[in-house]
Amino acid sequence: MGNRGLANKRRPTSNDLPAWLKVLNEEVVACIRCPRLVVYREKIAREKRRAYVDWDYWGKPVPGFGDPDARVLILGLAPGAHGSNRTGRPFTGDSSGNFMYPVLYKTGFANQASATHRGDGLILKDAYITAAVRCAPPANKPTPEEIAACTRFLDREIDGLKNVKVVVALGRIGFDAYLNYLKRRGQISTKAPYVFAHAAKYTMPDGRLLLASYHPSNQNTNTGKLNERMFTEIFREAARSVKKTISTPRTPSTPGHS
Ligand code: SF4
Repeated sequence: MGNRGLANKRRPTSNDLPAWLKVLNEEVVACIRCPRLVVYREKIAREKRRAYVDWDYWGKPVPGFGDPDARVLILGLAPGAHGSNRTGRPFTGDSSGNFMYPVLYKTGFANQASATHRGDGLILKDAYITAAVRCAPPANKPTPEEIAACTRFLDREIDGLKNVKVVVALGRIGFDAYLNYLKRRGQISTKAPYVFAHAAKYTMPDGRLLLASYHPSNQNTNTGKLNERMFTEIFREAARSVKKTISTPRTPSTPGHS
């Protein structure tokens, strides 16, 4: 998948979001349901990291980002404390994003390789990024209760993203988040046949391809558990898979939930 053609794509603004997604995002940003995460995200935003002392941290839940008509859904874990909890956009301003966006650019899913702040011109094409949990958790570890609480947003978001053909799950929590979504939707009764491993892929009963990847966290990229070649191949596979469905017309986003 090349990058040609992205330049001709009209630059999305917030007005390009369908109404249901605007409403959802407003609810996400206002959410205070998980007391531990509210305290943590605000504490980080107040205290800041020395390198970002001049930043006005976002300090709130982080909505999803990307093309609402996407055929590829990237499902991550949670905002980084000094990354998207600072910038307000997934994977923006931290090492995970510095690892991921060049790969999305190279594989044709982004118009640029860098992601530094919300006004940096980054556009995703045919990809949408969301997370199992929308508030930065201490030590990047949300509790099961926090993951469960945030399904209120994840379910509506996935329901609304009608064109998704491939779900790239980043890490075991992202992988489980999609399986649990399918359980809640009555598509699967057990997660047992679906085993997380890097590059594992499963055609799910909803017709989508679930593609697993190690999470591009420091812990994985610094140790070489996940390298750029491995991660690129995940998105090449995603691109190949959506091309197979290229004859299927993409439908405009419509309300996907009650
Ligand atoms: S993690 Fe989700 S449910 Fe919990 S406070 Fe943040 S946005 Fe709300």
